[in-house]
Amino acid sequence: MSDITPERILAALRQVQDPERGGDIVSLGMVSGIQIREGHVGFAIEVEPERGPRLEPLRKAAEKAVGDLDGVLSASVVLTAEKRRAPPQPAPRPAHRQASREPLVPQVRSIVAVASGKGGVGKSTIAVNLALALAANGLRVGLLDADIYGPSQPRLLGLTGRPKTKDGRMLEPMEAFGVKTMSIGFLVNEDQAMIWRGPMVMSALQQMLRDVNWGALDVLVVDMPPGTGDAQLTMAQQVPLAGAVIVSTPQDLALLDARKGISMFRKVEVPVLGIVENMSYFRCPHCGERTEIFAHGGARSEAQRLGVPFLGEVPLDVAIRETSDGGKPIVVSEPESENALIFRRMAATIAGELGAEGPAPPRIVVEE
Ligand code: ADP
Repeated sequence: MSDITPERILAALRQVQDPERGGDIVSLGMVSGIQIREGHVGFAIEVEPERGPRLEPLRKAAEKAVGDLDGVLSASVVLTAEKRRAPPQPAPRPAHRQASREPLVPQVRSIVAVASGKGGVGKSTIAVNLALALAANGLRVGLLDADIYGPSQPRLLGLTGRPKTKDGRMLEPMEAFGVKTMSIGFLVNEDQAMIWRGPMVMSALQQMLRDVNWGALDVLVVDMPPGTGDAQLTMAQQVPLAGAVIVSTPQDLALLDARKGISMFRKVEVPVLGIVENMSYFRCPHCGERTEIFAHGGARSEAQRLGVPFLGEVPLDVAIRETSDGGKPIVVSEPESENALIFRRMAATIAGELGAEGPAPPRIVVEE
């Protein structure tokens, strides 16, 4: 078997022409971020955002050119759009979004985004526990880590290694605790994920939806990148979302950010399924006592004011952090704990909103 080197990959890519700019994609400087690991190759092709949707054949051609090389087991190529070259995004048009709805993942009933106005509020922690809680409630669940700035789901689920491919084209999702998972963190190293900083990822997410063998799912939870910038807006537009869950902490600042998140989803006509208040109060690991550290309850009243459902409060609890860090989130490591029940109640509410109840859904009302 021949050695796979960046030179061989670039030589193959010199055969791939950009039909609009005239020339091959290597000479035009469009190829970046080549990754080679045990026969699996990944790289990005930078294109102007407005050309992205038309360039799927180019992406496929590049994938095939590299995939056909002797010794290459799989090739995954993403189109990225560099912000500084990009003209401003046109205002989102719901009709357009509608048009691109169905074909991406036809066997997935509902795609739900978990989003936050800013980083560090526990979005990934909530996303993984909600996914596991939906599964615990009897649904078929997938978790797509779209947080390209800091993919953390592989770590939270204790998953390492690379996704396999059976046919050299579709990636098989990884699986943990019965939940199918895909993350850009499986395809590039954690530090290399930083290459997405600045460049706006346009179709990486679409590819992680379309080119992954998700199979039939009731719910696919998407852990979105934090914030409400162009990248998030594009994602919210491009993915056929059934709804969005907004994670916020009690502090006012975070709530202001959360409000931006809500208005972003409203702009693209994605229903907001509700707000989760994370780190709502402190649960003492020794005596179990509850302490309100921040002005607690802000998210609940804000939700009321904005007319979106309030999904519940998750305490600041060292057990939540430790179990996440240990690769076995609280819903599966302490399934009978109050924390796990909080997530299962929220999952039941969400499933109810989606009309996606499992075999025996506990439709529990969240109490004051
Ligand atoms: P984000 O995805 O918003 O950046 P993370 O989910 O990565 O946030 O959480 C940031 C940090 O806070 C992590 O170390 C995580 O374990 C911790 N964390 C999140 N929620 C809680 C919680 N309710 N209790 C304790 N620690 C938490």
